[in-house]
Order: sequence, then structure tokens, then C-alpha cells
Amino acid sequence: MDFKVEMGSAWATAQQKQNLRRHVQQSDETSCNQPLQMYLVPPTGDVSLEDFDILAAERLQVLRTFERAGHVGKQKFSSEWVDFVLADLRRQKLTTYTQLLSGSAAPEALRRDHVSHFILRLAYCRSDELRTWFVQHELDLFRLRFQTQTRMDLEIGNFLADNGIHLEPVSEETVRRLRDQLQAATARLTASALELTQWYTVPFVEALELVRARRVLLAAGQAYIPAHDLGSIVAAKFRHHLQHALAMARRLLPVVEEDARLKTMLNDFDKRYTGRDYSAAKTDENAVTPDMLDELSSQSFPPCMRQLHERLRANHKLLHGGRMQYGLFLKAIGLSLDNAIAFWREEFTKIMDSDKFHKQYLYNIRHNYGQEGKRTSYSAHPCSKILAAGSNDSGCPFKHYDKDHMGKMLRAYGIDKEGSAEVQELAARSQPQLACQKYWELVHRRPFEGVVQHPNQYYEESRKALTGSRTKTDRGLDRSRVIRANVPATPAAPTADWDSDVEMSEEQQLTLERAD
Ligand code: SF4
Repeated sequence: MDFKVEMGSAWATAQQKQNLRRHVQQSDETSCNQPLQMYLVPPTGDVSLEDFDILAAERLQVLRTFERAGHVGKQKFSSEWVDFVLADLRRQKLTTYTQLLSGSAAPEALRRDHVSHFILRLAYCRSDELRTWFVQHELDLFRLRFQTQTRMDLEIGNFLADNGIHLEPVSEETVRRLRDQLQAATARLTASALELTQWYTVPFVEALELVRARRVLLAAGQAYIPAHDLGSIVAAKFRHHLQHALAMARRLLPVVEEDARLKTMLNDFDKRYTGRDYSAAKTDENAVTPDMLDELSSQSFPPCMRQLHERLRANHKLLHGGRMQYGLFLKAIGLSLDNAIAFWREEFTKIMDSDKFHKQYLYNIRHNYGQEGKRTSYSAHPCSKILAAGSNDSGCPFKHYDKDHMGKMLRAYGIDKEGSAEVQELAARSQPQLACQKYWELVHRRPFEGVVQHPNQYYEESRKALTGSRTKTDRGLDRSRVIRANVPATPAAPTADWDSDVEMSEEQQLTLERAD
């Protein structure tokens, strides 16, 4: 795919394309190789569809890291917050971005950054909600990079001048003369720090955020800015530019989406799961067998799966959504196909004969293991998919249970009143994954590393915490893969009781096979 033409088309009319093409060819060399940039010029060159997808997914992981960092209760840009971000990027092996944030990025890292930013603009320009999310986390990434560059004492004057930010250094003599006024206006600085800091003046309209917060001295239309506050001025410029660019991209999206391949890739991009792939076939090593499931369920299953397990034991059946959600989870923790058939048959034949079980349910179990239809080994559902679906038997208790139901469940699982209140507060604030993480921490009495994104991740972290070893499913699967969440445009209405029954007929089985 000629990326230059595709990306260019999003910012230019047909008549402007010729000029744009010439302009981007001239400026790309320099713009792409900047350690810090405002992304004013789209990238040029060819990008394969595979790379297009990989680069976009990589950046999505990075922006989600910033989103997670916002939930860990650290002050933004504090050293603890920065440590969390860097550790999370390293854990996900996002070396492009750890390089960018260390200020020593190779040209390939700069190219990946440049291209991926423009791809995500196309994915995130579609609604106010998406634009707000994108701007907020791009801004965090930008500010952290700016802070890194500044800390390393690199020359940033050119960058600022190139982007229309005209700073005038303030002489030491002027700082001494204005010392009392500067200190009154910027109370955070001690008298000695004030004289050691480099000060700049900018026209006050470029420092409105600081003016609004009453954190600058204003004199003769100029704002006096200490070096460590330059980030907020540059960030304001970056935000303004990005908001405008997203509005442009939104207007021109229909042109980009004339290419059906791009349309498929960009649609519902924000709902993609970006954690580990839990679809791989398992070996017999450390196999999980049906007789282990009761104990594992109470020790290490996340509530969504533990509820399904208990409901299956109590009622000897689950609806189609529940069987899919739970069956794929069991496969990913190491239950073999034969053991899965034995497990489901043992329960279902308590309320039906073996013949009915074979006719109505066996196909579905074999299908999950890639033994029917297209013979694809299906992935266990990530939290994003469970949270978006949540009808009938499947779902996440922290999203789909009402207060009473959740409280009862937490009590039954041994969570005390205080802990239960904390979990429920997070759930009430529409933070089901954080509620789940808090629940994990209460059960295991230690902090959870990262953020819960997948029931199998929850399970593996639990086994590690309880047994001190990595489980079979935790080895050899370290590659991250983006999996389409297949989220319906309008999520099904949540239900708390999940007791309507829709079994899978032979006709539906054939439909499933045809859909393969
Ligand atoms: Fe399951 Fe995820 Fe909900 Fe936890 S947050 S209960 S792992 S769906």
C-alpha cells in the first residue's frame, strides 16, 4: 500500500494532493527524524498492511499504558508515575517507546512513532469520546518525551522556534531584580532555586494555562516562565494542533475508508485487546484435569469464571455464551479436549441423556479446540470482550451485577466489609477491571503487577502468587498479539440474573461452521 497517498488523502483535496506530495517528500526526511515532534507532516513511503496493523497496535498499547498510569494513584509526571509507565512499557517489550523516552531513539524507532501516530489519528477521529481519549494520552506521551529531552539538556530551542514558540531567555540580572515578584508569582520555588533556574519570557497568550493557574509573573504582555514549566506551554500548543488535526481527519475519513482494507482495520480499533494471545494449543505438561477445577476455581479463577463454574456445578448446564466464555478459558489454562469433553459431559448428563449431549453440545466443544469447522484454535475471551457482551450466562460481575448481587458474591468469596466497599466503589465508578484488580489484591494480599486485562492473565498471576512458579500457560507465549474483540456496535443489555436459556441447535452449529 502506498502509505503516502493514503495518508495524504486524509489531509488534502484532490487538487491539493500534488502540492502535498511534493511538500511531504521534502519535509519527511527532517520531520520524521526529530527526537520530538508535533506531527505536522504526514509520513511518506510504503507501509505493508501487516506493518500498518502492527504499528497501530503497538501505539495503542503505549497509550493504554498511560491510561493505566492514570489509575494507579500517582501524581502525573512524578518520578513514581514515570517509573510505572517505563516499567509497564518494558513489561510489554515496547522497545520503540522505551527508546523514545530514553532520548536515544534509533531512526527506525522514530519512523515507527511517526507512522503510528498518523494511523491512530484515523482510528480515533470518529467521535468526541475517542478524540478526547486520544488527545489526553498522546499529550501524556508527548509531555513525557519533552520532559526527558529537557532533562537531558538537549537543544530544544530549535524545536520550540520551529513550532512558533518564541522564548526569550531572561538575564540573571533581570531575575535578581524581579526576584520578589517572581517568587510571589511562583510560590513553589524557593529563593535559591529561583536564582538557579533558567527563566524565559513568552507572549502571555502562549502561556494561558499557567496564567489561569496563577503560576506566572506577567509584565508588559510577557509571561515569565521557569524552565521546568515550559512543558505546559508546548503541551498546550500540541493539544491545540492535535485537536485541529483530528477534526480535519474526521472530515476526510470517508476518502480513506474507500479502501475496504483500511476500513476493516480501523473500525472499532479502540476495542482491540492488546494483551497476550491465549489461543495456543497446550502440551500435556502440568495438565489441568477436571478433578482439579473445584479447587482451582476457588483459589485462582477470576470471579467471572468462578461464577460460571459454580453455576455449572449447581445447575448442570450453561447457556451458549457462558459455555464459550468458560470453555475457552479452561482450554487456555490447560484442559485438554478429551478432558473438556469429559468435564462437560459429566455435568450435562445429570440433566439429559448422553445422546442429547452428543447431538447438541459436543460439536461446540470440539469447535472451540479447532477440531470442527475451519479448525481454528479460538482465543479465550479478554476482559474487553466479556465487558462488552455480557448477556445471558456470560459477563463480568464487576460490570453486570447490581450492588446487592455483587455484595453477596464478595461476601461469599471471603472479602470483608471494608474490602468489599473498596471493590464496589471502583465498580460503581465504571472501572470493572480495577475492581477486579482490587479483588485479586485482597485475595492474594499483595499488589497485582500491571492491570487485569484478561481472565487468563488473572489466573496466571494467581498461580504465580500462590505456587511461586510460572504455569504452563505462562511459558512460551510471551508474544503480544492484538485480537479483534468482535464487539457488537450496540452492546447487549446487561442482565443480572442470566437465566434465560438459548441452546445451540444443529442448524446453529451449521451456521457457525459456515461462518468459519
Ligand atoms: Fe473477569 Fe476481567 Fe471481569 Fe475480572 S475484569 S471478572 S477477569 S471479565
